[in-house]
Amino acid sequence: MLTFEETLHLHWGQVFKVRRTLLHERTEFQDLVVFESETFGRVLALDGVIQTTEADEAHYHEMLAHVPILAHGNARDVLIVGGGDGGILREVVKHPGVNATLVEIDPGVIEMSRKHLPSLSDGAFDHPRARVVIGDGAKFVAGAAETFDVIIVDSTDPHGPGAVLFSEAFYADCRRRLAPGGIMVTQNGVPFLQPDELGHGWRRLRSHFDDVWFYVTAVPTYLGGLMTLGWASLDPACRRQPVESIRSRFDALGLKTRYYTPDIHVGSFALPRYIQDLMAE
Ligand code: SAM
Repeated sequence: MLTFEETLHLHWGQVFKVRRTLLHERTEFQDLVVFESETFGRVLALDGVIQTTEADEAHYHEMLAHVPILAHGNARDVLIVGGGDGGILREVVKHPGVNATLVEIDPGVIEMSRKHLPSLSDGAFDHPRARVVIGDGAKFVAGAAETFDVIIVDSTDPHGPGAVLFSEAFYADCRRRLAPGGIMVTQNGVPFLQPDELGHGWRRLRSHFDDVWFYVTAVPTYLGGLMTLGWASLDPACRRQPVESIRSRFDALGLKTRYYTPDIHVGSFALPRYIQDLMAE
């Protein structure tokens, strides 16, 4: 029986029993593998790191998309940096009236996702309110003139092409691209195993945004417990919305979710001591 071993961590990892490999290629930017697993459905890995699986992708995509948009309450323009598998885009366009711009550096990821992981984008790449730009997200925000109500950074980990999306210069440019009352959220790793990623995010975001915090989600194939999503906004009130107002906005959408609920939205900002301690350093 074939197996796939994730190589993100030196001394600890996860191994998937593989039913069949659907694609394995070296794109211009990274090593890309899609395989059918015994337990998690289809799985995408980039440079040996699990990016998303059919079984638990909603735990991540729903939280990275709906928390900032429902907290904002009146988002019209959303920028997604990375996100080439289409999962975030799929969730963002579910919000009526929201225009989504996705900036992905590697067209090979989009092509792969359309063909081998169609349930992730679920047609979102062709949605009338979706615009797909192929390019480096850092260069896009540095050069763009337009502003956004919400910026979602759905990047790989800080290695290879993704490293620049964890830089202070990128965060400063994102700050300039946010409209008044705007919110930026980021993929900020699993702090139990990637404590530096959280510390760096905390320090780099705080020098540019009025309100910086983290919120958490639980994604079984993002090894090591809770995953932190970075929160950076221009209006501290956004993070403190009462659950009643989040619930009325959510109920108005009539969305069927697999992980997100208004209570989880509000509760996800409560951080365990070990994560708060990393923010004190
Ligand atoms: N959910 C995954 C996670 O938490 O690790 C991330 C999923 S998505 C596949 C990450 C995407 O970021 C990849 O498609 C990758 O090509 C893209 N990416 C990496 N660096 C980028 C950059 N500088 N600009 C735009 N997209 C980038």
